[in-house]
Amino acid sequence: MSIKVHQVTKQYATQKAVDDISFEVLPGQIVGFLGPNGAGKSTTMKMITGFIQPDKGKIEVCGIEVKGEAISTKKKIGYLPEHNPLYLEMYVREYLQMVASFHGISSADKKVNEVIKRTGLSQEAHKEINQLSKGYRQRVGLAAAIIHDPAVLILDEPTTGLDPNQIIEIRSLIKELGKDKTILFSSHILQEVEAVCDHVIIIHKGVIVANRSIQSLKSSQDAGVIRVRFSGDVLENELLSVPGIQEVEAGSDGEWVIKTLNSSVLSKELMSFALQHNLNIVSLQSQTRQLEEVFRQLTGK
Ligand code: ADP
Repeated sequence: MSIKVHQVTKQYATQKAVDDISFEVLPGQIVGFLGPNGAGKSTTMKMITGFIQPDKGKIEVCGIEVKGEAISTKKKIGYLPEHNPLYLEMYVREYLQMVASFHGISSADKKVNEVIKRTGLSQEAHKEINQLSKGYRQRVGLAAAIIHDPAVLILDEPTTGLDPNQIIEIRSLIKELGKDKTILFSSHILQEVEAVCDHVIIIHKGVIVANRSIQSLKSSQDAGVIRVRFSGDVLENELLSVPGIQEVEAGSDGEWVIKTLNSSVLSKELMSFALQHNLNIVSLQSQTRQLEEVFRQLTGK
């Protein structure tokens, strides 16, 4: 149930879309594939699903190399492309029956009922697709992507163009599907990835610039600067003994400017430091790096 991308490169004419990227999605993980528009997300996803071929490198899905085994890997993969291609004039149930027949599913009616229920389409199943809201059309796309019970789901910008309520609904549906599937989903919105995933891979200009847990991404947010004033004199050496301090600089009017990797922990430590030295904290200002800033720094924006 895993995805392995090994030293993969793809060039369109003179445009290098993906440049020697490697990463792995482990079984059962929900991984966010994050990057600005044009970063190479769709190209990577199309190569994983076997729709286009890499110029160099190797991709494996569930232990099978995609190249040369496109049919057997497609059986393992459910794919929701960025522009969800639906037959708008078809009825929801009719469309899903057609997709089931493409996959050669024997008990198609049972399977269609099952995915309609799982994706929350029961009230809409009798409608024409063009009568549905964009959120429900995405559900139809997801239902079609899971109809053959794939172990791996590749979702390309699944919430783009949805309103805030629809975004929340689709995110929770993705989380639900993640209970028994490995999921790679792309987005250009950090908060999205944070809300759904355990792990994030950040791509920029075709290169992977970060591959880490959401937890560690968040803790790097906590790095920052604290400006503190005490009610009495403090020596620099005494301050440097406080756990969590990286650098100290004396500012104006008795203010200390402190660099730290963990602002929330350091704020507490400074309070106990003040207590131990019979001082009060007159002012404390914490400037942590926001997630957006971490992203901008990683992508050089
Ligand atoms: P993302 O999904 O992150 O927005 P893409 O993978 O779609 O990025 O695109 C990566 C780069 O490759 C972009 O510069 C894009 O313009 C270019 N590109 C994508 N598809 C094609 C194509 N079929 N022909 C030429 N260039 C393309």
